[in-house]
Amino acid sequence: THMSADEIRRRYVDYFVRQGHTRLDSGPIVPESDRSLLFTNAGMVPFKRYFADPAAAPHKRATTVQKCIRAGGKHNDLDQVGFTPRHHTFFEMLGNFSFGAYDKRAAIRMAWQFVREELRLPEQMLRVTVLESDDEAHGIWTREIGLDPRRVVRRGPADNFWSMGAGEGPCGPCTEIFWDSQDARYSEDDDERWLEFWNLVFMQFHRGADGRLHPLATPCIDTGMGLERVASIMQGKANNFDTDELRAIVDGVRALEPASGVRGAEGEKGDERAVVYRRIVADHLRASAFLVAEGVRPSNTGRGYVLRRVIRRAARAGRMLGISGPVLPALYPSLEAAMGGAYPELAERRGPVVEVLRAEERIFAKALDRGLAQLAGIFSSAGAGTSTGTISGADAFALYDTHGFPVDLTQVIARDHGWDVDVEGFHRVQDECRQRNRASWRGDAQAAGTPADEIQAAADAWREAGVRSRFCGYSID
Ligand code: ATP
Ligand code: MG
Ligand code: MG
Ligand code: MG
Repeated sequence: THMSADEIRRRYVDYFVRQGHTRLDSGPIVPESDRSLLFTNAGMVPFKRYFADPAAAPHKRATTVQKCIRAGGKHNDLDQVGFTPRHHTFFEMLGNFSFGAYDKRAAIRMAWQFVREELRLPEQMLRVTVLESDDEAHGIWTREIGLDPRRVVRRGPADNFWSMGAGEGPCGPCTEIFWDSQDARYSEDDDERWLEFWNLVFMQFHRGADGRLHPLATPCIDTGMGLERVASIMQGKANNFDTDELRAIVDGVRALEPASGVRGAEGEKGDERAVVYRRIVADHLRASAFLVAEGVRPSNTGRGYVLRRVIRRAARAGRMLGISGPVLPALYPSLEAAMGGAYPELAERRGPVVEVLRAEERIFAKALDRGLAQLAGIFSSAGAGTSTGTISGADAFALYDTHGFPVDLTQVIARDHGWDVDVEGFHRVQDECRQRNRASWRGDAQAAGTPADEIQAAADAWREAGVRSRFCGYSID
């Protein structure tokens, strides 16, 4: 049965409300008062403190559709976007949570009932994993649910022990549900064939600041299911970007393109690349629009720098598609048409969001063309017939310093040409430059009693304003 993204959201929440859960709104993507985390990367983030202290939770059972971003930090999928069928920087996670209300058994039973009776997915297309040592979960799946033991796979902690990040926080063993993509390139024993779509985490531990695991007094449940992946299953699509809401945005990108096609690539190869660029633009529009709507602004540090990188990557992909002028503002109406129903903030904050996106793309536009030209020079100076090479740390830093190319953008472009970037070299050159600058600032600043991070912030603000602080030794032009 075909189901739209909207219908999947509704059915999920309705089902868990019927199971006694309270429906709560998505928390922000910029976690409130959580400095340990760049962005909300899972549905459990807004509830983090309740896992350690379930008595404080206002609802023992809750269900949400959470806006998530996985760009930067431990869960960073930025480089995957456009290249795998299933990763986005922005995505929605459907979740149900128990703060001491139910256990592993009930969580597995409800998940299975939802998958079989609401989504109506056939058992022969499904497979689950459990932590290798979790005999209890294995027994629930095989003996109580009655799943064929060949469909229940034991996995090590790298796959089946979930934590939000490397730092402090709740964590525990998990069981995951997979869908058979039936991709003919992979055999049934090949992991690549199986699409992970739902993770059920048994929150049993709290990882302390020292890295040690402490058992929680009351085990909790946290599950997360990717909306876009379920949509791909329910709509019979092999790629998330072909599902209803994302497809509409991708079509919006295509509508902005001139007939002439992808810059610097001909024929079939150009077509393949165009598909990837369109997906990148569509994904990055969602991430940047939701971030700006929550008040994040492009900058050179922290969250603001992730936003800046996302917008600049999108600008470059748009330019490669031959789109002139800022691509994200032009595409905004497609986003609003596709997702404005579920997310009223897209219409409410349209004005300021579009302005911020436009301003950032404008700032970058000229530098983008000059940087692309410089890169083209590097690629061609390697000599005709050279199809691979490495961009030096000094060149990558010059692109960053002079043209505002984040190093990961240089990497993406290099990858398109079959080249690498000496990222370590880049960081070395950058550190040297920073140290030089800091050493010379420290004098005045320390006299004024300014803490180090404020010095850095001031330096960043300077750079943003276009003020070149001091010659760093590698800048050209
Ligand atoms: P994968 O192994 O595919 O990268 P994951 O194991 O990192 O996924 P979890 O941390 O278990 O993902 O998150 C729970 C669910 O959220 C996943 O099962 C998937 O449905 C969804 N999800 C995770 N990352 C992404 C992403 N980058 N884009 C879209 N959906 C995602
Ligand atoms: Mg992942
Ligand atoms: Mg996984
Ligand atoms: Mg997972």
